[in-house]
Amino acid sequence: MLTPNLHYGELKDSYLFARIAEKTAKYCEDHPGTHLLRMGIGDVSQPLCPAVIAALHEAVEDQARAETFHGYLPECGAPFLRQTIAEYYQKRGVSLAADEVFVSSGASDELGHILDLFDPGAAALIPEPAYPAYVDANVMAGRKILHLPTGRTQGFLPEPEAVPGAELIYLCSPNNPTGAVLDRERLRAWVDVANRTGAVILFDAAYEAFIADDALPHSIFEIEGARTCAIEICSLSKTAGFTGTRLGYTIIPKELERQGMSFNAMWVRNRTTKSNGVSYILQKGGAAVFTDEGQCQVRETLQIYKENARVMGQTLSRLGIWYTGGKNAPYIWMACPKGYGSWEFFDLLLREIQVVGTPGEGFGACGEGYFRFSAFGDPSDTAEAMRRLEKLLGGK
Ligand code: PLP
Repeated sequence: MLTPNLHYGELKDSYLFARIAEKTAKYCEDHPGTHLLRMGIGDVSQPLCPAVIAALHEAVEDQARAETFHGYLPECGAPFLRQTIAEYYQKRGVSLAADEVFVSSGASDELGHILDLFDPGAAALIPEPAYPAYVDANVMAGRKILHLPTGRTQGFLPEPEAVPGAELIYLCSPNNPTGAVLDRERLRAWVDVANRTGAVILFDAAYEAFIADDALPHSIFEIEGARTCAIEICSLSKTAGFTGTRLGYTIIPKELERQGMSFNAMWVRNRTTKSNGVSYILQKGGAAVFTDEGQCQVRETLQIYKENARVMGQTLSRLGIWYTGGKNAPYIWMACPKGYGSWEFFDLLLREIQVVGTPGEGFGACGEGYFRFSAFGDPSDTAEAMRRLEKLLGGK
């Protein structure tokens, strides 16, 4: 009889967002007609920008005519998009060859697939609180996980340290869920650790576009030495509202090798075997994000989310509740007031003010007692949620 992948049996409970969806669906079923103010899952509320929409329309038209029709594209990405992304990095002083850029269907897909490159015996170091897919993808792969808890005293930033046995190191900056950002010094120290120990850093830059402070690095490749120890995974989901459209990119430098094997060459082999690439239409739409017009328009949308974060931060400050994030990231990470546990606080907000947030415990045990609000919501819903929160907790 076939043996299934028994590691699936080791997955903890149901996936965080599935549990939230289940609880909110139950609430709506019991309270028909309720409008929930959704500030939980990190999905965006604003539409794609006009430059992207125009490019998508044009690409659809291209597919209607024999002279401009595209069939299969190169598996690792259309040359025009790989080049455009390399030029985007160059603007920040990072030199990449176009064939070090791999176009993907999004960061989540890539975070799962990329594990193919590493020995199943290689342990993964995951600083927590963390995006839950890091842990779950490694559990499914049967990989050993070394949890590295972070806390309030460190600003929820992982201290660079050589953890014995850690061969894969996950770093997410700006961080989901805490909004914390690694500065150059700390990131350099992590790069040094990886180069010293031979570990590989998986750097998740899904929120790089939210960085407002010019001194903070957007890419790990802004740090000297990163080309020999890092892979960067990025996405247009949050930068440009592609959560439902799906496009991302992954950077694997040519110098990244272990035991004489090039990860760039291995990923080319992987993609040409396990993928037939990303749709021409989406790649055209994605390229429009990087034009001057596209950049200007996506920044306007990001401003809406930043304003949401400001409103949330201001409310929590007035309530005297500790929080971090929101300035260089679209997430606010707050301490649950009055000693509430994070799922208890979730239930309270759903029941009393119909606001949906994300319990910190879902991002790792050290997230217990904390709660995440996303700034991606509709601005009027966000403002209303904060009014209700202030009334509920401020007793006014
Ligand atoms: N990485 C982080 C840290 C995220 O928060 C998310 C989505 O919320 C992703 C990756 C996945 O992004 P994508 O939509 O590109 O799959």
